[in-house]
Amino acid sequence: MKKTKKKEIVWQGFAGHFIGAKKCLFRLCSAVNSGKYVVSTVGAYQQKDNVVLEDIGLGRKFETMVFRAKKCWCGCGEWVQRDAKNIDMLPANSPKGAKANHMKLCKKWNNIKSGK
Ligand SMILES: [Zn+2]
Repeated sequence: MKKTKKKEIVWQGFAGHFIGAKKCLFRLCSAVNSGKYVVSTVGAYQQKDNVVLEDIGLGRKFETMVFRAKKCWCGCGEWVQRDAKNIDMLPANSPKGAKANHMKLCKKWNNIKSGK
């Protein structure tokens, strides 16, 4: 598999983390830093139709997490989290805040020099 270009932020279509992600109406996922990290934002968690949006974690409706990345096992070409350990996290309570957090962590981890 070809690595992403240096300093490139690659937008992806699948949710990047969270066991309940398929019930999250809001999902952003990006591979950054040549596919070294995935930045994943999920939120607007709706466990049942027509029910008010629930918190995804303590006191937050949206969260952005960063994980070390690897290529997806299924061959789809997407970058996915290498393990369940998030290395950075920002909470939000609005889509606007969640988007801003996503961009903030994409920029931060795209430009980080050290680490594996
Ligand atoms: Zn896949």
